[in-house]
Amino acid sequence: MATLVFFHAHPDDEAIATAGTMFKASQAGHRVVLVVATGGELGEVFEDVLKDGETLGQRRQAEVHQAGTILGIHRVEFLGYRDSGMAGEATNDDPDSFWQADVETASEQLAEILQQELAKVLTIYDPHGGYGHPDHIQVHRVGAAAAAKAGIAKVYWATMNRDQIQRQMAAQNAAEALLDEERRERASADDFGMPEAEITHAIDVSDVLEVKRSAMEAHASQITPESFFLDMDAENFALAFGTEWYVAAHLRDGSAQLPSETDQLPGETAWQSQQRFYSDLLLP
Ligand SMILES: [Zn+2]
Repeated sequence: MATLVFFHAHPDDEAIATAGTMFKASQAGHRVVLVVATGGELGEVFEDVLKDGETLGQRRQAEVHQAGTILGIHRVEFLGYRDSGMAGEATNDDPDSFWQADVETASEQLAEILQQELAKVLTIYDPHGGYGHPDHIQVHRVGAAAAAKAGIAKVYWATMNRDQIQRQMAAQNAAEALLDEERRERASADDFGMPEAEITHAIDVSDVLEVKRSAMEAHASQITPESFFLDMDAENFALAFGTEWYVAAHLRDGSAQLPSETDQLPGETAWQSQQRFYSDLLLP
């Protein structure tokens, strides 16, 4: 049994991106630790969500703990930085924001947790933070630096499968109705997620989708039942959330050979071959 540390930017990112993997790891008897960089103070505030005197940061931290209980997470830690807001916002300059954090100092904080936990696996985000949010980019930088400090051999970038999302959008006549303009633009951008060819691990979480949905619902201040995510029908929800995607960073430095065409079995796509090739599963 091993300890896996999942590093995320904001409360709710863990539920959306890696909930199924965390739950499966916990069910398999591993120790699962969640580290969240910020309190998510700049999320949208819906009317009547907050109790008197409650701040959004307090509420969102409580929601992480609730999701953590649902997902069988053993320890939740916050690094204590402030949400930096979307790229280009004035809040990016807030000295207490994660975007302004000194990578050296922040990675020390995370490395200390990794060392305490004798972590075997760390998940961070891809280099552009999936979709360019400053705090997500910073998770990549700080996470990679912390992994180097703590000597973590297996580092995975949680990401989105750009090709799959584009296929899904093309296949759905209802895509126009399903996706608002901003999401559609984002998903078609060249720097959204990672190209499928570079994804090394697709974790099938379709058998624990209800648990993942419950973890998302725990973030009631951000993901309302009417939200884009929870309002999808079961089929689209399964397509969007039934697989969690990772790039094994430790396989990108030349230490692992990429499968060649000759490794492909009859009837197998290059990508399926790659999945089979990387038989070292993210779950140790
Ligand atoms: Zn986020």
